[in-house]
Amino acid sequence: MTAFAKFDRYITGIFFLTVVTLIATSYFAFKAVLGVHYKQQQEIMLPLYSLVTAEIVRPLIASHYMANDEFLIDHIEQDSVDKKKLLTYLKRLSNEYGMLTFIAIDKHNFRLDSGNQVHSLSVEDSEWYHRLKAQDKDQFADIGNAEDPHLYFDVKMYNADKFIGFAGVGLDLNYFADTFANLKQQYGFNLYFVDENNEVTLSSDAIMKTESHHRREQIVNLNELEWFQHYQKQTDKSQGTVIDTGTESLSVSVLPVKELNWQVYITAPPASEQNAYWQIFFSRFSIFVVVATILYWLFLKSLKAYQKRLVADAEIDFLTKLPNRTYINWWFDSIKTEHTSLSIVMADIDHFKSINDTHGHLIGDDVLKSVAETLSSNVRKMDIVGRWGGEEFILLFPDTEIDQVIEVTERIRHNIEQLPFKNKLNNQSFSTTVSFGVSHGNLANTDIESLIENADNALYQAKKAGRNQVICQPSAD
Ligand code: GH3
Ligand code: MG
Ligand code: MG
Repeated sequence: MTAFAKFDRYITGIFFLTVVTLIATSYFAFKAVLGVHYKQQQEIMLPLYSLVTAEIVRPLIASHYMANDEFLIDHIEQDSVDKKKLLTYLKRLSNEYGMLTFIAIDKHNFRLDSGNQVHSLSVEDSEWYHRLKAQDKDQFADIGNAEDPHLYFDVKMYNADKFIGFAGVGLDLNYFADTFANLKQQYGFNLYFVDENNEVTLSSDAIMKTESHHRREQIVNLNELEWFQHYQKQTDKSQGTVIDTGTESLSVSVLPVKELNWQVYITAPPASEQNAYWQIFFSRFSIFVVVATILYWLFLKSLKAYQKRLVADAEIDFLTKLPNRTYINWWFDSIKTEHTSLSIVMADIDHFKSINDTHGHLIGDDVLKSVAETLSSNVRKMDIVGRWGGEEFILLFPDTEIDQVIEVTERIRHNIEQLPFKNKLNNQSFSTTVSFGVSHGNLANTDIESLIENADNALYQAKKAGRNQVICQPSAD
């Protein structure tokens, strides 16, 4: 059996080696493919850039259009304004550009948007108005407060150099969030829109979630971000340069948005580290491992069945279909534990050599088969008959009285003696006889080896005494 165990280990070894080799080669192949993907990722930066700027430029165009609309300027400079008319105007533009439009009129102290929301321009209600008005610039991008998650583009309105209010549009920040989420999922991109002071106006990661504002306190400066500090130290600031923050690697690209004097920083994990790909890799591989394990299990099962057959072949004598000597030896172990006494009968065909010599080996084989059948058919189920060697057989009678064993053996001897054999070649009939040696012992104080020796001795006595007889070696107890 140890040979089989060794074989099993060998098979298991080969199996796991194959699996490990497959995983390793696929891993490196996959890494190589990711390298190609990384190039593609770099190439998508350009269309991404035009997309991003378009999203910024379009609202700016809309805002400028309103801020410079003579009709609008004239209208809001009147002593009284028709809010209904204004609302129709805002709604029309809102539909045209697909974004919220608004106007804030200094003279009449209110802000009206295309959603028909009216706010006073007091410091409490419209903090932004006063903050932006005080600045030297004419156009702004500003994020609304938490209850109003919009990115506003505000453009100052003038009537002959006199400041008269703001016109602008608002973009739903959820729209940006969705676009960013897509980019992040597909390419692992994170986007940071920063103004000329490196302050983050818009970003796709957690910072944005503050949906701040009162933004002055909550504003995040790029310099506070760890990856940016590493990027600053880097001498190579070419597009897509890879920085190592200690915890992760990131590729960083910078794109200007001239219209607002902004910059867009795009960071992404290098392609080879993008989780989505590794997830695919590992999910495919876990399927592979499961399938391989099932196949391995099936293979082992069929191997075991085959081994069983091999063992059976090794245990059963091909000619007589009786258990062979090896198998009988194994049987002794269970006999020792399950029974208290044992009788052993050794049987040896008389002058078998001369049967072979006279009638040939094939007929000798027939005689062996017939003797084996007669032996088996005259014992109980619990008894064991085996082929011990050439023309020698062994019979085991557990827990059986010696007299009964002798009786059965005598009957067998007689039956064999009566067996008619015929040589078909010369039509010669013949018979054969068998000599028997019997031993009996109590298993508590006799070992099986000495019982066999005793039976052998008895058999020798039977041969000496003229063959075709049963001799019993008297037991020691
Ligand atoms: P004895 O009465 O003393 O037992 O004489 P014997 O001729 O039976 O004993 P011996 O040991 O001299 O010869 C046994 C012969 O059995 C020799 C061998 O060729 C033959 N034999 C052993 N196995 C087989 C077998 O499988 N088939 C055949 N045909 N002959 C076998
Ligand atoms: Mg012999
Ligand atoms: Mg013999």
